[in-house]
Amino acid sequence: MQPLTLARYHAELMRVGAEKFWLTLRDRVYWRSLYTDIRDYVAQCTVCRQGKADTHPLRPTLQSRQIPDEIFHTLHVDHIKIPKRTKSQKFGYILVLLDALSLNCELVPTVGTTAQETCATHWIMSLRNI
Ligand SMILES: [Zn+2]
Repeated sequence: MQPLTLARYHAELMRVGAEKFWLTLRDRVYWRSLYTDIRDYVAQCTVCRQGKADTHPLRPTLQSRQIPDEIFHTLHVDHIKIPKRTKSQKFGYILVLLDALSLNCELVPTVGTTAQETCATHWIMSLRNI
């Protein structure tokens, strides 16, 4: 009787998921293992398995970053845009240089994001550190 009841209501309720199925069915019928029976029935329903796609996102595996052996061996370079508030404001970006080993961060204001400006700024900074 119970499997027939589950099959009938599951089809009648357009093959809803286990939680919604239980929320609807608990007001209409009762037996001790109703919740687990519903959960097992929906999990084993072949029609639902074939018709409902798995929409859970695939999570990438965690990876640790590669840490270089020497300081300043690997630099991460990026730009952050500064919102311009006045016409006299010369700089529109911040050049961010991050050392992969020490995580030392240098922030340098720049006018643009061209490779020429980035290299020139990086070169000037390297001269300062000598
Ligand atoms: Zn189903």
